[in-house]
Amino acid sequence: MSVDLLLQTPVDLTASIPAQPFTPEEFDEYVMKTYARYPITLERGAGCRVWDSAGREYLDFVAGIATCTLGHAHPVMVAAVTQQIQTLHHVSNLYYTAAQGELAKWLVEHSCADRAFFCNSGAEANEGAIKLARKYAHDVRGIADPVILTAHASFHGRTLATITATGQPKYQKGFSPLVPGFVYVPYNDIAALEQTIAELDQTTPRVAAIMLEALQGEGGVRPGDTAYFQRIRQICDEKSILLICDEVQVGMGRSGKLWGYEQHGIEPDIFTSAKGLGGGIPIGAMLCKDSCNVFQAGDHASTFGGNPFATAVALAVCHTLEQEHLLKNVQERGDQLRTGLTAIAQRYPDKVADVRGWGLINGLEISADIELTSAQVVQSAINQGVLLVPAGPKVVRFVPPLIVNAAEIDQALSAIDQAFATL
Ligand SMILES: *Cc1c(COP(=O)(O)O)cnc(C)c1O
Repeated sequence: MSVDLLLQTPVDLTASIPAQPFTPEEFDEYVMKTYARYPITLERGAGCRVWDSAGREYLDFVAGIATCTLGHAHPVMVAAVTQQIQTLHHVSNLYYTAAQGELAKWLVEHSCADRAFFCNSGAEANEGAIKLARKYAHDVRGIADPVILTAHASFHGRTLATITATGQPKYQKGFSPLVPGFVYVPYNDIAALEQTIAELDQTTPRVAAIMLEALQGEGGVRPGDTAYFQRIRQICDEKSILLICDEVQVGMGRSGKLWGYEQHGIEPDIFTSAKGLGGGIPIGAMLCKDSCNVFQAGDHASTFGGNPFATAVALAVCHTLEQEHLLKNVQERGDQLRTGLTAIAQRYPDKVADVRGWGLINGLEISADIELTSAQVVQSAINQGVLLVPAGPKVVRFVPPLIVNAAEIDQALSAIDQAFATL
């Protein structure tokens, strides 16, 4: 069929739109129950707000779990999606395409890295980083049995290698045998790290890389100590160990700086991005310095990775972040949010143990002395019309779109205040 004929063929534009209503019960008959979902069906979004199938409005301080950088239905994203799907959306990495090159250039020019590899998710980006670190250990350092150190309470994804990298037994349970070559250390404990390296490297060097989040997201919104990260950088330089920063959650401006590692004044050898990079379009990236780039043609690949569709949208997100001075907004709104949460903590001293975070990734920790869980606080906030997400059983996480305004921060603060008043 010629293109002309195709374009003339009448298309039912409603065919791809799911019939409503689709109840949670119906949904659960067909979709694997791997998620504990809240009993609301979201239908539509605009800016920092979403609406459910009953027409109820919510302020979205989850943003697809720190992903919708520009909120919902942002005109720049709508334009980028529309333009690119009408031009070229996918052709494979057998050929050159402009958007992938442009996005790599933007990321390289705005980070410490020299080169980028594109994939589809955070876990896949971390898989790439793990493969690169192992290949560097084999090819450059002659390590036959490399080990990667990761932290307790870390989170690196749900594939087999990345649940192994994740230092939380609850994600690993039932999936053994896990991937060999990972050893865990307590986060922010430099003495423990130095001792672990000394033990592993005792007879012959084995430690290939140290993989950390600049701030642990899923593990409870725990910022790393700058002295810890700076000492790690020194150790890595002394011993030719690669430092990998998992920037999947804290990167792309969420911390108030473009990359979380900038908060510690260090540069990793490898870092990964995903979540906020595409503003909600699936994309991941693994970036590295040329000094450790041992990948050659054929070493790593991904069918969808870096396709024109995903990279054009991510590029539009990156440009908007820059042009709209969103980092400044993240810093100002973040200060406003933490100030408000600290005041709430003072009003409910028996319930709130701590408030912490950077920019627009913040956590409120519930007192260990009471039964209250983060899921209960989140449910209560939903009742107040605000979407929040737990970061573990005792921490409530606030990760709104980076375009959030002062009135929206105030609305979220009064909802959480109400939630604590009723609990
Ligand atoms: C969410 C997350 C991942 C996993 O990303 P997916 O896109 O779900 O695979 C990895 N690392 C960190 C720090 C994350 O927050």
